[in-house]
Amino acid sequence: MDDDLKGVVEFHGHLCPGVAIGYRVAKYVKEHHPRSEDEELVCIAENKSCSVDAVQQILGCTAGKGNLIINDHGKQAFTFFSRNDGRATRIYFKGDLSKGMDEIRARYFKGELSEEERREFETMRTREMERIIKAPDDELLSVSTVQIPPPRKAQIHPTLRCQECGEGFMEICGRTVNGKVVCMECFEKLTERKA
Ligand SMILES: [Zn+2]
Ligand SMILES: [Zn+2]
Repeated sequence: MDDDLKGVVEFHGHLCPGVAIGYRVAKYVKEHHPRSEDEELVCIAENKSCSVDAVQQILGCTAGKGNLIINDHGKQAFTFFSRNDGRATRIYFKGDLSKGMDEIRARYFKGELSEEERREFETMRTREMERIIKAPDDELLSVSTVQIPPPRKAQIHPTLRCQECGEGFMEICGRTVNGKVVCMECFEKLTERKA
């Protein structure tokens, strides 16, 4: 396990096939772009699964910095946009994970496997992860250059104070109810009570 993978496992909490996928995608990008210290590299992820954590850890595209956008299509695909040169690369993970494993995986998650089947499943899963970690890029990744408009930068909005709970919140998240400007949480509580 190299330092990048170790870092992801520490951040994410465990090694799983999703982490291995994200690791391979992020490693590929790392060879083409430097780590994103600010916002120059933006990732648009088409899923919100374990693989996204590898992108956050290895590439510095994070939810907090605003250079990680999630358009959840339930797909292991990621587009990386560089604000430096306006170029975008889409990477789709094509390495088929589930060949012959769909049924046993479903039963595993339902807790239906016998002790022996469970061990067998875990061996298959480990072998699959090892394959993802080691296989050559062209076996796993389908990479294409795409044209996309620059994603919007993280916006800074003024803070307002909720006239109900007194907590500060971002202006665009405000709502009005009974002539008061309130936060979304209070808005939901106040309108729920009325209904
Ligand atoms: Zn995971
Ligand atoms: Zn409030």
